[in-house]
Amino acid sequence: MALPIVAVVGRPNVGKSTLFNKLIGQRLSIVEDTPGVTRDRIYSKCEWRGREFMVVDTGGIEPDTDDVILAQMRRQAEVAIHRADVIVLVTDVRCGVTANDYAVADMLQKSGKPVVLAVNKCDTIGEPPLELYEFYNLGIGEPFPISSQHGHGTGDMLDEILKYLPETDAEDYDEDCIKVAVIGKPNAGKSSLINKIAGEERVIVSDIAGTTRDATDTVVENEQGKFVFIDTAGIRKKSRITERVEHFSVLRAYMAVDRADVCIIMIDAQTGFTEQDSKVAGYAHEQGKASIIAVNKWDLIEKDTNTMKEFQEKLEKDFSFMSYVPFVFISAKTGQRVNKLFEMIHFVANQNAIRISTGTLNDVLAYATTRVQPPSDKGRRLKIYYMTQVSTKPPTFVTFVNRADLFHFSYQRYIENQIRTTFGLTGTPIRFVIRERG
Ligand code: GDP
Ligand code: GDP
Repeated sequence: MALPIVAVVGRPNVGKSTLFNKLIGQRLSIVEDTPGVTRDRIYSKCEWRGREFMVVDTGGIEPDTDDVILAQMRRQAEVAIHRADVIVLVTDVRCGVTANDYAVADMLQKSGKPVVLAVNKCDTIGEPPLELYEFYNLGIGEPFPISSQHGHGTGDMLDEILKYLPETDAEDYDEDCIKVAVIGKPNAGKSSLINKIAGEERVIVSDIAGTTRDATDTVVENEQGKFVFIDTAGIRKKSRITERVEHFSVLRAYMAVDRADVCIIMIDAQTGFTEQDSKVAGYAHEQGKASIIAVNKWDLIEKDTNTMKEFQEKLEKDFSFMSYVPFVFISAKTGQRVNKLFEMIHFVANQNAIRISTGTLNDVLAYATTRVQPPSDKGRRLKIYYMTQVSTKPPTFVTFVNRADLFHFSYQRYIENQIRTTFGLTGTPIRFVIRERG
């Protein structure tokens, strides 16, 4: 389900990044080593008293002359007003209330959006400093004294934020409905694809209660099954501001990936691969989602017999960290191979949810270890005792070995390839969990 968004705004140096890092705790460390993912510190999932939401650091203002800062702060606030469910305005108790704080508070107040006023750098525990009262003058309610550095006061501030979060009801789609996120750069043709599908299939446009206002999912039922196309950043209704603010559209894309079973990574055939594509694809990979790469606008490409093959070979290199991903060359405009796309969605969703019996798995393992001996070091050889699938979406296998350090990446790769050769697992990442047993 789409999570509510909490945006953090404020002048440079008031402590926004520090607060942001405090709020998200250790969450970011999880995704450290994924190939293809350059980590962004701009947003993350946060949980407080069992409620989940996204915190967004709208930072990025470089200290400059006052009027430049103000212009950027206005823009920041504008974006937050447009996109966030709750806005946290961070100020600095040591500077007192500044003219820029007044200007932004005024904008936020007029927008009618819920605003929580945080007065940062109140480092001493106990009675709030007298300077705090000045912040009532901003006219956006009670100031919350916090110390982002030490964490004081952030709990009360979070409680206040929770009061304003919209209800997020559980999704009520059927179990057999496949949730699909179409992701890709602006202009790749995402909305054209959805509109094409919407125009030709029986479509129910549903507004799920409680989800972020502009999220509109498209439900499609055809001979291939039931599908929900998750809206990313207003795929259907585009607003100018969304386009300008990549930050938030990337965020929406990530949130769509979180909700999806299958991600369609859409590439514009005319532009080809870009870094941003591998970033979002990397996220889908790391979240264990099934993926398909759809090369769109195929109608515009001049082709000879090898064109498709060459395109695919090039993209396979670009997406080498997800070598399992299948390709389809489509035209959202003409509808070419859109049927094929549905077939593939269905297929990769099943692959992502596959269950392999322990018996067959260990047959494959036995065969693999006979063919290529496990690695050894200083006379000790790796022994793989047993492997069993513990979960699906993505298929996850626990492997029991004598010594984990001997199970080198290259040998894991080899085993993974043997499993893939036997079972296919097209379009889905798989995971290994390694357990030592004496
Ligand atoms: P941003 O520009 O708003 O993102 O501000 P930063 O998070 O980069 O913080 C600016 C400076 O203020 C840094 O030197 C922080 O260490 C410091 N700072 C942030 N929060 C606190 C706090 O609660 N107390 C104190 N004393 N310093 C803080
Ligand atoms: P989005 O930003 O990814 O949602 O992209 P749009 O769906 O708005 O498409 C961007 C532009 O590309 C529009 O002018 C579309 O008409 C055009 N477009 C999208 N798909 C195709 C396609 O398959 N073939 C051609 N020729 N144009 C396309």
